[in-house]
Amino acid sequence: MRDETKCLHSGYSPENTQPRVPPIVQSTTYVYDSTEEIGSVFDEPTKSLIYSRFANPTVMAVENKIADLEGGVGAMCTASGQAATLIAILNLCNAGDSIISASQIYGGTINLFTFTLKRLGIECIFVDCDASEAEISKAFKRNTKLVFGETIANPALSVLDIEKFASVAHAHNVPLIVDNTFPSPILCKPFDFGADISIHSTSKYMDGHSLQVGGVIVDSGNFDWHSGDFPSLTEPDMSYHGIKYTEVYGTSAYIIKSRMQLMRDFGAYPSAHSAFLLNIGLETLAIRMDRYCENALKVATFLQKSDKIETVCYPGLSTDKYYDLAQKYLKGASGVITVTLKGGKNAAVKFMDSLKMASNVTHVADIRTSVLHPATSTHRQLSEDKQILAGVNPGMVRLSVGLEHIDDIIEDLQQALRSV
Ligand SMILES: *Cc1c(COP(=O)(O)O)cnc(C)c1O
Repeated sequence: MRDETKCLHSGYSPENTQPRVPPIVQSTTYVYDSTEEIGSVFDEPTKSLIYSRFANPTVMAVENKIADLEGGVGAMCTASGQAATLIAILNLCNAGDSIISASQIYGGTINLFTFTLKRLGIECIFVDCDASEAEISKAFKRNTKLVFGETIANPALSVLDIEKFASVAHAHNVPLIVDNTFPSPILCKPFDFGADISIHSTSKYMDGHSLQVGGVIVDSGNFDWHSGDFPSLTEPDMSYHGIKYTEVYGTSAYIIKSRMQLMRDFGAYPSAHSAFLLNIGLETLAIRMDRYCENALKVATFLQKSDKIETVCYPGLSTDKYYDLAQKYLKGASGVITVTLKGGKNAAVKFMDSLKMASNVTHVADIRTSVLHPATSTHRQLSEDKQILAGVNPGMVRLSVGLEHIDDIIEDLQQALRSV
C-alpha cells in the first residue's frame, strides 16, 4: 500500500460485522477464564492483553499504523512527545552513560538532555548538526550509547544529514535516533537513510487538529544490538524472569523491551480515547502534508520579498542553506517557516500581535495558521547563548502555515507586516 492508503487502512482490519472504525476500548483490564491462563500471560506479556498501563487495542491499532507508515517493525505510543524521547533514551542508557545530540533540537528536549538526564547520571554531549564526521567522532566516549538529532529541527529548521550521523553512529556501534516530528513519515522515511529508531511528537502533524498531546517511538528493527555494548537487551532482564530480549524477540527486541520494561514501570501510556483522536488525524495525514508544503512554500516566497524581514528560513526555498539536504531527504519541506524581522524582538512582537487570523499559540503544526516567539516561550528557559546554539534569536518568529486558503493567509501576514 502507498502512504495515502496506509493512513486509512493500516493497523486495523475489521472482520465480518465488526465496526468499520477502530473502536474505543475503554477498559483498564481484560478478562480471562482461568487463573492459569492469566498467569501464563504474565510469562509472555506480548501474547495477549493484561492491563492498559502498557497495551490497549485502540492504541495498538494506531501503533501498527504508524509502524507501517514509518517502515518499522513495531511502535509504542506514549502520553507525549517528551515521554517518547525519554523512554527511547532510557531504553538504552543507564546512569554513567552518555549520549551525543545535534544541538539544533526542540527546546524541551534540550532541557531534558541538559538537566533532567544529567540528574539521572546520563551526560549529553552536543555537536552542531553541520559538524563533519570527524568532529562528531571526537565527541564519542567509551560510554556513549546513542546519537540523536531532529530531521527538521524545531525551530531552527536545519535539516539533519541522516546518512552522515548514521554512519558515525554505526562506526561506533551505537544507533541513531531521530525525532521525525516535523516531516512526519509522509515527508521523510528516516530508516531508508540509516536511522535506527525514530520518535515523534504526535501532538503535531500526526494529530494535526490540536486535540491531543501524544508521542510515539518506532523501531526499524535494523540495529544489531550484539554489535555494541547493550547488555540490557542482550543479557537476562532480572525484572522479567531473566528474559533475553534479543534472543526471544529478535529484531523487535528494542521496542518490546521499551513496553515490557519501561512502560510497565513508568506508565506513560495514552488512553484509548487519545489514540482514537490521533487515528482520525492520521487518516488525512498524507493529504494534509501535501497541502502544508504547498502553502508554506508560497508563504516563504512571499515573505522573502518583504522589506520588513531580514531572513526567511524554509528548507524548501532554493536559496535556503538546507535546500540540498531537504531535496535529498524530504518529499517536501513541511509547514513551518521561521522569519527574523528587522528590528529584533519589538518588531517580532508587533508583527505577531497585529495578526488577525493566525493565532498566537505555543503549538505548531496545527491545521490553523499559528505563530510563536521562541525566544520568550519554548526557548525561554535557555540562556541567550544556548538559544543561539539552538538556532533561536530575539527577532525570530516561528510561523506554522495552516490549511486555510493561501490568499487569506498571505493577506493576514501582509496587513500585519504593514503595521511593523
Ligand atoms: C513538540 C515537540 C516535542 C515534544 O512533544 P510533546 O508532544 O509536546 O511532548 C518533541 N520534538 C519536537 C520536534 C517537537 O516539535
